[in-house]
Amino acid sequence: AAIEPESESLIARRQAALGPAYRLFYEKPVHLVRGEGVWLFDAAGEAYLDTYNNVASVGHCHPHVVQAMAGQAAVFASHTRYLHDTVLDYAERLLASMPRELAHVMFTCTGSEANDLALRIARAQTGGTGIIVTENAYHGVTAAVAEFSPSLGRGVALGAHVRTVSAPDPAQADPGAAFAAQVVAAIEDLHRHGMKPGALIVDTIFSSDGVFADPEGFLKPAVAAIRAAGGLFIADEVQPGFGRTGAGMWGFARHGIVPDMVSMGKPMGNGYPVAGLALRPEVIAEFGSKARYFNTFGGNAVAAATAAAVLDVIENEGLIENARTVGAYFRDGLQSLAKDHAVIGDIRAAGLFLGVDIVDDGEPDAVLTGRIVNDLRAAKVLISATGPKGHVLKIRPPLVFQLENVDLFLDRLQGVLRAL
Ligand code: PMP
Repeated sequence: AAIEPESESLIARRQAALGPAYRLFYEKPVHLVRGEGVWLFDAAGEAYLDTYNNVASVGHCHPHVVQAMAGQAAVFASHTRYLHDTVLDYAERLLASMPRELAHVMFTCTGSEANDLALRIARAQTGGTGIIVTENAYHGVTAAVAEFSPSLGRGVALGAHVRTVSAPDPAQADPGAAFAAQVVAAIEDLHRHGMKPGALIVDTIFSSDGVFADPEGFLKPAVAAIRAAGGLFIADEVQPGFGRTGAGMWGFARHGIVPDMVSMGKPMGNGYPVAGLALRPEVIAEFGSKARYFNTFGGNAVAAATAAAVLDVIENEGLIENARTVGAYFRDGLQSLAKDHAVIGDIRAAGLFLGVDIVDDGEPDAVLTGRIVNDLRAAKVLISATGPKGHVLKIRPPLVFQLENVDLFLDRLQGVLRAL
């Protein structure tokens, strides 16, 4: 179907005002004006089932979160250089959701800044500059972090101090040992080039690598390997954090590890920009003795009040449990659908984060994947694709997703697959 004239005009204004580096979702972009729960509404009032937005994790425009945000904005909205309760109440509550070794948290506005800070701290603490990441990782937008975000592609050169390892392959007999062996090889290569390893950083659900959650525990040997080489382990929880995997608050917990640092963001403020870095006190001793840290908006009172309200909703509405049960139902439904549709390959999932390989004769098919994403958009269901080959349907709805929402999704997907 053709793009409406009104959308054409918005696209032209975007190009004129925002410039050439922005990308829209979908061949026929969606013009959204409102969100509520798992629903997004376009300018014509049409409802779309949001099966993709992990930022609005407790549901779009959740009234409890909106009220907390507005309430704090009306009272005190300044930063962390004054004594103020809100940020401390939140920090203590957030840390209580983590293993006790992670006893500090520092606040930023974005996940990128959290990873950038983690990098500075790792360098100061270890004296190492080498960074190890997975080969299609994304960790953020700052100049330093983009240098270790290979999923940005040809536009950004990886740093000379960066080594990549392939994402764990669940088909291997021992994915943990294989992953650790690659990390060891990367460490040796850094040494060969005169560099000390500073950190291994992984998104603990490997979202841009194609969603690799299982087997639980596979990260353990790699974490041991980086530590044995004097480097730190940074868990990037921007994607799996705040209950998405349905197995507790944090993705790293599925692996039975306690990271040296944990970066977080996206769902933390349900749309308000708030992010952070939790860490073991011993890793910041060196940095803290020399550097000063102040982030004007990071941890401001409105951010802290909003983020606290998000924790309220996760607890009060039992969203971790919901992610677990609705996620399991979702996976089962996709598996049933796969029986009738050979284009559905491997399905990987943890809670409400699901990756579905789309294949043609068993081979990754990015073109078909793109077609399914766009056909679903035409059927008013929003998802996207991921993975180095672009052939993984990325399904990641708000955690308030219900069984009937899954049924609707599966019904629409079935319609799309039948019409292919
Ligand atoms: N890490 C991961 C795993 C991410 O997915 C993202 C954002 N897509 C970031 C870091 C960066 O977060 P932000 O966009 O808030 O800077």
